[in-house]
Amino acid sequence: MQQNALFTKALAGDNLTCIEGVELFNHTNVRELLALANEIRYKFIPEKKVSWQIDRNVNYTNICISGCLFCNFHCTISQKERGYTITPGELRTKIEELRKLGGDQLLLQGGLHPLYDITYYENLFQEIKSTDPLIKLNALGPPEVAHIARISKLTIKETLSRLVAAGLDTLPGAGAEILSDRVRKILSPGKPDSKQWADVMREAHRMGIGTTATMVYGHIETIEERIEHLILLRDIQAEKPLGTPGFRAFICWPMQNTGTKLGERYKTEASNPVEHLKMVAISRIILNNISHIQASWLTIGMETGQLALHSGADDMGSIMIEENVVSSAGVKNRMDAQRMQQTIREAGFEPWLRNQDYTPR
Ligand code: SF4
Repeated sequence: MQQNALFTKALAGDNLTCIEGVELFNHTNVRELLALANEIRYKFIPEKKVSWQIDRNVNYTNICISGCLFCNFHCTISQKERGYTITPGELRTKIEELRKLGGDQLLLQGGLHPLYDITYYENLFQEIKSTDPLIKLNALGPPEVAHIARISKLTIKETLSRLVAAGLDTLPGAGAEILSDRVRKILSPGKPDSKQWADVMREAHRMGIGTTATMVYGHIETIEERIEHLILLRDIQAEKPLGTPGFRAFICWPMQNTGTKLGERYKTEASNPVEHLKMVAISRIILNNISHIQASWLTIGMETGQLALHSGADDMGSIMIEENVVSSAGVKNRMDAQRMQQTIREAGFEPWLRNQDYTPR
């Protein structure tokens, strides 16, 4: 199909095929690709406003069986000097600090612990909600849910139901990386596969749980695999029951591999602002049924984040009071609430503080 016809199809909100997505990504002049995504952004969000959020990322344990090649954060259960699990006292302190900074949401993630079954998570969530009943729990991710279900001998539905009963509010789209089993077998040999990731999300959507979707690009994947990943997300979103939130947002960022096994074994490209802007743009173009696209300043820097707001993104994400996984692989970007709003204004937008469900705070 000619480029003009592809532009018309994308602007009409039609589903692009993988071949069409690859054609747009590889052969469109960068300025035109970003402008196309920006135009589509205003069909979803007509106002010149950009949302942001205050939350705290708490990694409850670093003990993990997955052994992802890109992860410097995890260790095995036998590495006693490195392994930790958060204590109730530490958790209470983190919640108090979050409240003082005006936040009300915990992004709770950790490793695939070999011994923790559903009861550990039920106790953890109940402890959090008894400390602060109004705190929102955006917790775990599809690989953790699939892992907990397996070691607890429960179905995904039973696992999610019990987690919701214990206090889970929303499910982040963590652990997707690239949803291709060729890639996952190399990068994350012990992690649930892409079908399990998708199955957990489908079940969460059927149960009315709001989620997000992610992608980590720029390692051993092909452009086709990136576009197939986006199309899989679009297909999962199309299956969600009417009136349920499904994927509220999509977030992509470049792989960080400083000092990782991935960096030792594979020659991967350094983060590239133009590549990131193209990824934000193609995500907005392919994901014609997901409302919000994040700019991902944490890994790529706030200046590129500002440009992403002109390339299809409408959300700057969270100020991230604490982050341990990508920061252990070389990321040093930090932002406070004032700087976040200033950054959004400098980019030409009015900032608005949001909740996890994209309602105003
Ligand atoms: S990225 Fe997550 S699943 Fe992979 S090794 Fe690190 S903690 Fe484990």
